[in-house]
Amino acid sequence: MSHSANPNAGSHPDPSPEPLNIEDPVGRLPEEWQSALTALGERPFRAKQLFRWLHQRAEFDPEKMSDLSVPFRARLREAGVGEPFSVDTVHESKDGTRKLVLLAKDGARVESVIIPMTDLSDADASAAPSDEDEDEPLATKSRVTLCISTQYGCAMGCVFCASGQAGLVRGLRASEIVSQVYLAKRYLRPDEQLSNLVYMGMGEPLHHYEQTARSVRLLTHPDGLGMSPRRITISTVGLIPGIERLGRDFAGKIGLAVSVHAPNDETRDKIIPMNRRYPVAELMRALRAYPLPKRRRITIEYTLIDGVNDSPSHARELAAILRGIPSKINLIPMNPITASELQAPKSEAVRQFQDILANGGYSCFVRTRRGDEVAAACGQLAMADDLVRKKREREELRALAKKS
Ligand code: SAH
Repeated sequence: MSHSANPNAGSHPDPSPEPLNIEDPVGRLPEEWQSALTALGERPFRAKQLFRWLHQRAEFDPEKMSDLSVPFRARLREAGVGEPFSVDTVHESKDGTRKLVLLAKDGARVESVIIPMTDLSDADASAAPSDEDEDEPLATKSRVTLCISTQYGCAMGCVFCASGQAGLVRGLRASEIVSQVYLAKRYLRPDEQLSNLVYMGMGEPLHHYEQTARSVRLLTHPDGLGMSPRRITISTVGLIPGIERLGRDFAGKIGLAVSVHAPNDETRDKIIPMNRRYPVAELMRALRAYPLPKRRRITIEYTLIDGVNDSPSHARELAAILRGIPSKINLIPMNPITASELQAPKSEAVRQFQDILANGGYSCFVRTRRGDEVAAACGQLAMADDLVRKKREREELRALAKKS
């Protein structure tokens, strides 16, 4: 091996003129770089170095990757390695919640939310305190949960949720999913530490399984951030094949949250169109079959909507269908969205609903509303208003055309 006086000068003898033709290079695992590296005349161990730059140091500029050869860095730039997003705006709410609006090159606006964990929200965070006992303590720093998006728009069309109002525009690449984490870390205060990651932003993660699963592999890779899978929770509207696959692919180690929102098909059909494909009884069967490790629980999300799913009989029915599933229930009084008249029940109804479940032996928390003055609360992540407006205009035009 030849030694160069200048470590930046590049050490390999014969850089291949081949362009590095790789889709989503930032979304590659080190193992997947090997063959491309060989083709470029680079040594296999470069894969680890490159991966560390991207996923441990969050450095996307090939120029700064000082231990890689100059020709290799040039190939990386040609292949599109670079910041996937520019930060459009950061909205901060009085409760410390920060919403990051990120802009992709094609104009997709991706939203992530940093949520400081208070003592109160700790209790109802996705990872229950008992789940974390065995983890390394995150001692002195205050803990934050990060909520990330997997799609721009959403195809699920739940009636109470702003994210799906204009349909699905596109899924995010794995690189775009993980860089929300790396970018958000830049916006943490010095005394804050990222503790939990929840896939609860815009989109349906299991409707975009490949890139979602890949993002988990990237985030948990020991040469990257090395996040513990226990600290990651994926939330789904209840796509059964995706739940089965997630359980198999990660041996049940990834936290699972399910948007149940109604205990029977009659009610659930009305608010979640996907229920017609994957009805309640089958969903419960899939949850029972999820290979949960000992002491872990499935998070059951239940958005309470006034007069729709909030009666005491709904609560009793929910208690009955969840019997035998290790679960913790998060009640979320519905956050208002512009596209719908639906609203949260009175607080008395929320308390009664909670009491019935608690008396039934469930741990059941009411999620305090976080960040709603910056439209960062559950279900409020929406595409740019103009997109929604454009869709409405298109529909109006179509309706007019039909009439005439
Ligand atoms: N598609 C996934 C991920 C979204 S998570 C899923 O359905 O789980 C966002 C959570 O907020 C879901 O439980 C969703 O049902 C809930 N939600 C959506 N709109 C809401 C609203 N307006 N008020 C309260 N919760 C809402």
